Amino acid sequence: MSDLGNVRVRFAPSPTGYLHVGGVRTAIFNYLFARKHGGTFILRIDDTDVKRHHDEAVEVILNGMKWVGMEWDEGPGKGGAYGPYYQSERFDRYREVAEQLEKSGRAYWAKKEAPKELPAWKVEKLKKAGKWDEERAEAATDPEPALYFKIHPGEPQDVVFQDAVWKEYRRPADLVDDYVILRSNKVPTYNFATVVDDIDMKISHVIRGEDHLANTPKQIRLFEALGAPLPVFAHLPMIHNDKAQKISKRRDPVAVTLYKDCGVLPEALFNFLTLLGWSPGDDRELLTKEEMIEAFSLDRIKLAPAQFHLNRKQDMTPDAEAGAAVAWLLEALPGTKLEWMNGEYLKKLAPAELVARARPFLEKRYDLSGVPAERIEAALKIEQERARTLAGLAENVGMFFAAPKELAPKAVQKVLLKNDGLLRLKEAREVLAAQGDWSAPALEAALAAHVEKNALKFGHVAQPIRVALSGDTVSPPIHDTLNVLGKDESLRRIDAVFAKNLA
Ligand code: GLU
Repeated sequence: MSDLGNVRVRFAPSPTGYLHVGGVRTAIFNYLFARKHGGTFILRIDDTDVKRHHDEAVEVILNGMKWVGMEWDEGPGKGGAYGPYYQSERFDRYREVAEQLEKSGRAYWAKKEAPKELPAWKVEKLKKAGKWDEERAEAATDPEPALYFKIHPGEPQDVVFQDAVWKEYRRPADLVDDYVILRSNKVPTYNFATVVDDIDMKISHVIRGEDHLANTPKQIRLFEALGAPLPVFAHLPMIHNDKAQKISKRRDPVAVTLYKDCGVLPEALFNFLTLLGWSPGDDRELLTKEEMIEAFSLDRIKLAPAQFHLNRKQDMTPDAEAGAAVAWLLEALPGTKLEWMNGEYLKKLAPAELVARARPFLEKRYDLSGVPAERIEAALKIEQERARTLAGLAENVGMFFAAPKELAPKAVQKVLLKNDGLLRLKEAREVLAAQGDWSAPALEAALAAHVEKNALKFGHVAQPIRVALSGDTVSPPIHDTLNVLGKDESLRRIDAVFAKNLA
């Protein structure tokens, strides 16, 4: 049973083509638990069923794990004493154990009836209640016999176990039925391969999603039949969306790459997912990885569904193109906890780091070839405080990399053609042209002196400059904007306004 001196946990994703955020949450809990107890975090690839695009799909998982910042101790690329760590490379071992079970009378070949032909809604209902036997249903459509595990060797007994989250969990004997362990083609099923691996890999704690709770009683009987000690089970609460539905690829952005492509920082996503169903026991929300490890324990995992809210206008289309899915997510992030948290992490980035993280997002949008490196850094720095995603940040700094193609008509009307806007701009240009020290404080002082001397309103001077520089009425403080653009570029943009002959 539980031995915190030798913690060995695993994350066992199937290579489906994307890494699910719910899966990442599961991986994080395993990872934190292992790190907390000086244990071993194993990555195992559950690929008994996957044939098509296998290698790319595995790559997606490995890249996703690395991006989020979870190094595994044993598994693909790392090796380890209990490999191979791909189930597809362990078929001989499963067949050997199956034979052993057959010899001991705990497994038998049979062709079973399908659970009666049921209408789709009923199947759905059974699935929701965790009472649908996928493997049996599938085996029943196979004309050849499959190998079944005999659940009850004697008098049927309820399966009772202590779950670290659910506490005592009981499954009545009549709901735990014999199940397929090898299909007719000798391919092992999930409920079989998983147990063999968990035993062989000496897994001490099985931490996984609540959707597997219905499998656990079946797996427990198999552990017992194989004479192996039971690991501690911890089933993590479901993750609900803003409509109180379980998050699903049918309607929610579940692929981790979508968050990456929006410019959510991996450390922010890690922090956010850690708090989905767990809390440090106080009201801290922003925690470093070290603090999370320090505070982590299974007994503070909550049973109630975790809330992952986005501000959706409508559901995401399941087969949305990557670009459309990213656009959907960018629209749904504002005002959410994840967005706030990401903003907090963005604020903390040191300048060089900020540039490194933002660069791919900038390069996607702008031609940076002629832009001096200091301008890139300075532009990002002045927008850093209000940035919420790297994609949003990249969008906001656009004015620093290219002159406005045109001036917003409203800005022209309200700012340049009113309150002597063009005249104010002309006067300001003279002040700026004469300005030697182009630092932000010096520019601020020069503009303030000009306003004061001529008894003007600050806004009547700053706004026309702003429209000239940015093409519109919003930008960071005007002295910062001038400073980042540099003297030549600033004057060039002001002159471009006069070249339009607006008056
Ligand atoms: N491959 C399974 C899944 O992705 C693993 C479940 C388990 O952790 O046992 O759901």
